[in-house]
Amino acid sequence: MPAYRQGATPSKPGFKLSSNENPFATLPQVAAAVSATPVNRYAAAAMPQLRSAIGSMFGLDPADSAAAVHLGAGSVSILYQLIQATAGAGDEYLYAWPSFEGYPLLGIASQATPVTVPLTDAAEHDLEAMADAITDQTRVILLCSPNNPTGPAIFATEFTRFMSRVPADVLVVLDEAYREFVTDPEAVHGEEVLATYDNLVVLRTFSKAYGLASLRIGYGVGHPAIWEAARVTGIPLAVTAQAEAAALASITPEAQSALQQQISQLVQQRDTLVAELRTLGLRVPEAQGNFVWLPLREHSNSLAAAFSEEGTLVRSFAGEGVRISVGEPESLPEVLRVIESFIQAHPDVVNSGGTQ
Ligand SMILES: *Cc1c(COP(=O)(O)O)cnc(C)c1O
Repeated sequence: MPAYRQGATPSKPGFKLSSNENPFATLPQVAAAVSATPVNRYAAAAMPQLRSAIGSMFGLDPADSAAAVHLGAGSVSILYQLIQATAGAGDEYLYAWPSFEGYPLLGIASQATPVTVPLTDAAEHDLEAMADAITDQTRVILLCSPNNPTGPAIFATEFTRFMSRVPADVLVVLDEAYREFVTDPEAVHGEEVLATYDNLVVLRTFSKAYGLASLRIGYGVGHPAIWEAARVTGIPLAVTAQAEAAALASITPEAQSALQQQISQLVQQRDTLVAELRTLGLRVPEAQGNFVWLPLREHSNSLAAAFSEEGTLVRSFAGEGVRISVGEPESLPEVLRVIESFIQAHPDVVNSGGTQ
């Protein structure tokens, strides 16, 4: 069984651009809320204030939010709950590839079979091919928008066409871990489509844009019956009171405006990085998250090694590409410097890498 590979620790001072984290310091009001929360008591599992705040982002009224919003110790834990609840031996779950490295591991414990459909040449979900891949055994379909690691978001029109081909008893999980960074006006947004489909859940997280990766808190929104099933496979009280306090402190209007500034800055850096990389002659797919993807194929591991020698960590998907997170503002010139010297040593990476 392949172990989950976490971004390693740098060998010399540099940047950690391997896990799509928010590089900025924790907001003071969030840090204060965490340290003011006692650790000797169990959290109160209901967390109604947080659930109703999340529900209102999806247009739900507070009375409905308690059952329609599900909290987890990271949205990855909710993915596990959903697969365990829906798919066992002989069942299939379907997703695009390359996509989130956690997906292949989800079915191991329940013995569900992962089925993958290759991305298009533009590194986007091939939703027509995914609909064709649905069988009588398919229980769950995972859609990642924007797609980690490649960057493009799913278009709203394509999503609607896809959903019309999915049987009503197949669960669709729209994993929007990077929703806050999306700027493409054509992109699907969970809050706009959720009410239309009883077999759809939307997953989001406080780990990325909100900068709470280490506290482990994510959420799903969808039909209460789905969460009733997911609760059975979840570990009780996995969401800590500190995570709850941090999430609540992050959604006040003041915190939201501070976070929005961080997000805007990261989006601007992302767009600058994409433009500069394309100017260097590299192929870069649409980047809608806080990361960029270089489909360098056989050169992927050597670019990651070149970064590592300079103390900077990026994520290589061997034989496929390299994902570089958008980090501290100072990391931008360093990323370009390393890539420019890599191109000098390997001129064939320019305009190679297929049609991506
Ligand atoms: C980071 C990430 C997650 C979730 O992370 P958690 O920290 O468990 O909330 C989920 N899906 C994708 C695609 C991600 O990149």
